[in-house]
This record gives sequence, structure tokens and C-alpha cells, in this order.
Amino acid sequence: MSGQKTIPGLVQKADGSFGFTVECPNGLINEQILLAAHEVCKRFNCRLHITTAQKLMFLDLDKETGPKALKILEDAGASVRKARDLSQPRVCVGKPYCKFGVQDSFILGQRLYDELARMPTPPKLKYAVSGCLACCAWSNLMDLGFAGVKSGYRVIIGGHGGFRPVAGIEIGKVTSHDQAVEVLKKMSELFASEIGKKGRVDKVIKKIGIEEIKSQIGLD
Ligand code: SF4
Repeated sequence: MSGQKTIPGLVQKADGSFGFTVECPNGLINEQILLAAHEVCKRFNCRLHITTAQKLMFLDLDKETGPKALKILEDAGASVRKARDLSQPRVCVGKPYCKFGVQDSFILGQRLYDELARMPTPPKLKYAVSGCLACCAWSNLMDLGFAGVKSGYRVIIGGHGGFRPVAGIEIGKVTSHDQAVEVLKKMSELFASEIGKKGRVDKVIKKIGIEEIKSQIGLD
């Protein structure tokens, strides 16, 4: 059956083949993982897809080659999401690389990933960090987005893609990385308690309202 997992991290695809997805925090890939990806593609003749969420998806594996390929990547230090958790944010290149960047999005992106990526979050919570209000990382279309301004990051919630895309709503600003970590952590907890396993943050907005959310995540 499509979507069925055989071993944690390995997923059966719609065509019956198997695949897995490697996280790339900040959209960066180190040499060890690149070499492991090269080895896996060469040995198992699989395809490597760069996902829209800045991850590496290995495709066209089977029950035999899938676990072997997964082990090679994990032995090289790659992280694979195996449970319902926050995973990685989508992050733009930001300051100092982008001429429009007013915040170093890599620093906040890495901090959020390091502290919260494995936080259990049963419903899907997508989040992003952009180095300016242009929101190239789609911070304005995520369940929770941080969009850089000179004094910190604007916080945007309730956006998502899918069959009926919804734009996020700006609800305030964080002025430190510590505050951003707290906002994401509290939002994740609130989201899980209000939604259960299925739904997106825009449903929480409809259910309890923006002001209550702001109060509960410390942005009032
Ligand atoms: S969001 Fe801003 S800082 Fe990030 S890549 Fe786009 S223009 Fe540059």
C-alpha cells in the first residue's frame, strides 16, 4: 500500500517502489553526505530528488536496497525524519549572501532545528525562516513563518499550500532567537493540543482566535 512504512524512515511510494528523505538543515549539504549520496546512487541506481522542502529524496529503491541505502546515509551523519515531529524549517540564504537580507537566516534556522526538530508534533506543522520580508522561504505561506526585519523577525501564522492555499497572518514580532525558539515550541504544543493529529494552524485560528493564540505563545 502506498505510504506504508517498512522500517522507520523508509516509505513505500505510490508506484510500489521505496524511498526515504534526508534532512538538509538550512538547505546545506556537507561533503560526507554528498559522498554517501553518490555511493548510494551509483550502487543502487536510484534517483535523487531535491524536494521543495529543501531535503534530499532518494527514489526507485526496493525492499532490499532501501534499508542498505538508508544505512549508508545515516552512517555518513544524515538525519532522516522517522516520526511525527517538527523536522527542519525551510530557510532562505539570507544575510550576508543576499543583498536584500537584513537577518542571518542560517543562524536562526540552525537554532530552531537543533533545539526543536525532534519535538513530537502529531499534526503537520511547517515552518520557515526568511532573511527579509520578501519571504523567499515562503514564511508567509507556512503554519509558522519568521520574516526578517532590522529589529528581529515578524511572526506570521496560519499559511499553507495544498489544494486550497492560504496566506498567513502577521501576529507580532520576535526580537531574539530565544524568543523565536519559545514561540515555535509553544505554537507546536498549542497546535497539537487543539488539533490532534490532522489539520493545519489556520484551523486553530478559526477555533480559538488570533488573540488567544498570541496570548498562549507569548506574543501579546
Ligand atoms: S527572503 Fe529576502 S533575504 Fe531571503 S533570499 Fe529572499 S530576498 Fe534574500
